[in-house]
Amino acid sequence: MKFGGTSVADIGRIRNVAHHVKREVDAGHEVAVVVSAMSGATDRLVKWCEEALKERRIFDAREYDAVVATGEQVTAGLLAITLQDLNINARSWQGWQLPILTSDTHGSARILDVNGDELIRRFKERKEVAVVAGFQGLHKETGRITTLGRGGSDTSAVAIAAAIHAERCDIYTDVDGVYTTDPRVVPRARRLERVAFEEMLELASLGAKVMQVRSVELGMVHNVRIFVRSSFDRPQDIVPHGNPPGTLICDEDEIMEKQTVTGIAFSRDEAQISIRQVQDKPGVAAAIFGPLADANINVDMIVQNVSSDGKTTDLTFTVPAADYQRSLDTIAKAKQAIGYARLDGATDVAKISVIGIGMRSHAGVAAQAFSALAERSINIRAITTSEIKFSLLIDAAFTELAVRTLHALYGLDKAA
Ligand code: ADP
Ligand code: ASP
Ligand code: MG
Repeated sequence: MKFGGTSVADIGRIRNVAHHVKREVDAGHEVAVVVSAMSGATDRLVKWCEEALKERRIFDAREYDAVVATGEQVTAGLLAITLQDLNINARSWQGWQLPILTSDTHGSARILDVNGDELIRRFKERKEVAVVAGFQGLHKETGRITTLGRGGSDTSAVAIAAAIHAERCDIYTDVDGVYTTDPRVVPRARRLERVAFEEMLELASLGAKVMQVRSVELGMVHNVRIFVRSSFDRPQDIVPHGNPPGTLICDEDEIMEKQTVTGIAFSRDEAQISIRQVQDKPGVAAAIFGPLADANINVDMIVQNVSSDGKTTDLTFTVPAADYQRSLDTIAKAKQAIGYARLDGATDVAKISVIGIGMRSHAGVAAQAFSALAERSINIRAITTSEIKFSLLIDAAFTELAVRTLHALYGLDKAA
């Protein structure tokens, strides 16, 4: 059972979580719980790190991790106390105590190995509930605390589920499942009963923040059944061994009803860069994207078209918004080697992505979107497609309109 930030926002909510856990224990299950920091706690810790810097621009990621990992430790201890208060045998665990071993990429470490033996032994011998601090791990060689990147408690939960051979990994959050798009933005979004790992992976990496991308990857590799559900359902209303509302993330084979489009994701975390009037000759793309790759900048969409002078080409591409300035600097530095007239950029852009495994066998799905957006006078700046998704870059101001338009177009709106 994993509980996110809003589900443990205060002592009252933590007590509610304890009742959810008690319900499962009373139903005869052995339970490991993974908790996030209390809502807002991680943001506050990150802000303190930023404020502590005056002269240097980047802080030491090892110390960032030492600070931000503390949020989850507080919740783990508090939930253990609350469970004990309900006469349930419970013990908290920090990442280093299991341990949860990770890479040394502080701030976005990858889980390498989780030792679940001690947890399993304690289930058997003492019926003890494990309460594990999410988001954190340990780098073995240096012995230092690491964190897994924002939203990383989802990944802790799936990794622990795999390590203890759990029947299921329940992700309790503030919505009762995975929706066709963010229900906060489109009230007519529908809850999906089931979603395939591959689709969830695309939804998550293209902006649906309900699950961290890495957690879905791990679930897919280790075949962990992930069930996304609400912590706001009252524990006393849930029937033991019943069928609560939620979304099962599972293998494609387990999904009967296959829609062409399953969901729509969007992200405002992108920036656009256009290099104007580049010579149209071999080696130019290498001169541009080589230095960006060397600078560890992830280029996503790439479009090349004829410049206004009719002789040269314009190259447009997107990068993560956080890398925008660095990308501009990198291209400016390589100006000699590339040879261009002007460098333009924009950060007020949004990427809208349409996802569905049904697209493999249906042609013309993207074409429908182009006409629907044209009817609404929404200009498309760039397009990318792959087997089960396509993405469109538009002006950020039209994000909601575009998402709603496409949501209706593909028949995803729930009945009024
Ligand atoms: P937690 O704190 O429990 O980890 P998050 O805030 O990380 O919760 O994730 C839940 C939020 O994800 C929801 O409140 C919702 O606004 C957002 N979200 C974005 N896309 C979707 C989607 N397709 N389905 C459900 N929720 C989504
Ligand atoms: N507390 C961390 C965050 O806010 C991890 C998580 O909640 O999953 O990003
Ligand atoms: Mg989350």
